[in-house]
Amino acid sequence: MISLADRGTFEFTVPILIVGGGACGCVAALAAKDAGVAPLLIEQDARPMGTTGMSQGLFCAAGTKAQAALGIDDDGETLFADIMAKTRGLADPVVARAIAFGSGPTADWLIETHGLPWTLDTGFRPAYGHSRFRVHGWYGHEGADMVPLLHQKLAEADIDVLLGARLTDIFADSDGRVRGVEIMRPDGAIEHIGCETLILASGGFAADAAMVARFMPEMAQARQNGHEGSRGTAVRLGAAVGGALADMGAYQGYAMLTEPQGISVPPGVIVEGGLIVNIDGQRFTDETADIAGMVHPVMAQPGGHCWVIFDAGIEARNAYVPDTRALIDLRAAKCADSIGDLAALIDVDPATLGAALAEAHAARREGRVDAQGRAWSDDTPPVAPFRALKVVGAIYHTQGGLQIDGEARVLRTDGRALPNLFAGGGAARGVSGPSYWGYLPAMGLCTAVTLGRLAGETAAKHVLDMRSILPLQSEVVVAT
Ligand SMILES: Cc1cc2nc3c(=O)[nH]c(=O)nc-3n(C[C@H](O)[C@H](O)[C@H](O)COP(=O)(O)OP(=O)(O)OC[C@H]3O[C@@H](n4cnc5c(N)ncnc54)[C@H](O)[C@@H]3O)c2cc1C
Repeated sequence: MISLADRGTFEFTVPILIVGGGACGCVAALAAKDAGVAPLLIEQDARPMGTTGMSQGLFCAAGTKAQAALGIDDDGETLFADIMAKTRGLADPVVARAIAFGSGPTADWLIETHGLPWTLDTGFRPAYGHSRFRVHGWYGHEGADMVPLLHQKLAEADIDVLLGARLTDIFADSDGRVRGVEIMRPDGAIEHIGCETLILASGGFAADAAMVARFMPEMAQARQNGHEGSRGTAVRLGAAVGGALADMGAYQGYAMLTEPQGISVPPGVIVEGGLIVNIDGQRFTDETADIAGMVHPVMAQPGGHCWVIFDAGIEARNAYVPDTRALIDLRAAKCADSIGDLAALIDVDPATLGAALAEAHAARREGRVDAQGRAWSDDTPPVAPFRALKVVGAIYHTQGGLQIDGEARVLRTDGRALPNLFAGGGAARGVSGPSYWGYLPAMGLCTAVTLGRLAGETAAKHVLDMRSILPLQSEVVVAT
């Protein structure tokens, strides 16, 4: 903590400082600038990517113009109901409402005002808890394309970005009012920057082994497939200035990380009819029940890996997804024209594998749920020619973090908002409930962009409100 008298030690002061150059930070920066205040965004890496850069670039949003154009009947109330159903009523209702009602307008604003080429992904059917077609993305592109595009939009909006600048400390008064930050440069140099508001968009803590072991011990030994920069900066420093933490045991695990390629099998492979079997050739779960929670039944199987079984048709229908294309290009899948040949290729018992497929086909034909409780409808179990991909379970990203209100203000443990601290995306509590089973598909980026927008707008309003009662504090304010 520093006192007011120490403010003179800052090299310069900005109205809004945003930490993190992933989806949340970039969107917060655009929102702040659109609201009339030019922020400074800092990012620890020389080339920003973050978890956003590793993602498939898909985000859910309700009530968008892209949905309306295709006659999809969806709105904030429906998404809110889906979030609360998926989380067994345990998501924070205030944050859930902010996300459910804010996601559609956020998507429309980014598309219309900033020209982001996002549209509804009609290949991603309602599944895993979404009751509507509402997953949006950039057709044929992924997160690795999205991050450079967002940074291009920052440049077009004349927003200052400082790369190679790692947040190492926050300076605040005893009431939690942030006065500035300490950053470390790649050569170890320390700099102090003052700020009137601070937005923490520095992601979660999936790469911090000690935090994972503490908050989600069941994943302590799991494969880590998050971004190495997700080291819990926001949680640690935000809590140190008085921020409350919530849902710290929440995360997205993923059951279908290919071995050895380390590429995610897109969820569409399952949604279109794919199955998962263990090294004995047996199915053991309803593959459509839980996109994130499926990691646990997979990790519990003997031998440490499983096989995703699908077919050439499913592969073709998913070929627009960059991860599918990468797997095809690498010839990662085992390919066979018969179940017997496939079983030999993946070294499982052919009779067991054949029986698993036959039972799924029978259930679909007879219009009943199958032995694993999976209900078949438009999806069809695999038919020849077959494909198989070897997969392992992994932790991808965390969903707990700083407790926020519906405007992305960080709250104290007594529920009151800290004066000028905001958080979003992986840095903040999401809407996945307390554990691993509450994650809805494409919710990570949804919370990143929606809370990013809310944080940027609210921080800008805070600065402008303060300007009306206090003399100018910082050097860079742009009223557009
Ligand atoms: C393989 C994979 C696939 C995924 N696919 C999807 C998907 O398709 N849809 C979806 O909704 N979600 C997906 N997710 C989750 C999603 O990517 C995240 O929820 C989302 O990107 C979080 O965005 P963010 O801006 O909060 O964090 P990030 O994108 O991680 O950005 C945080 C940034 O802050 C920087 N940073 C961290 N600490 C500091 C510090 N101390 N100082 C300065 N900078 C710092 C980091 O370097 C990083 O650039 C996926 C995750 C993984 C791992």
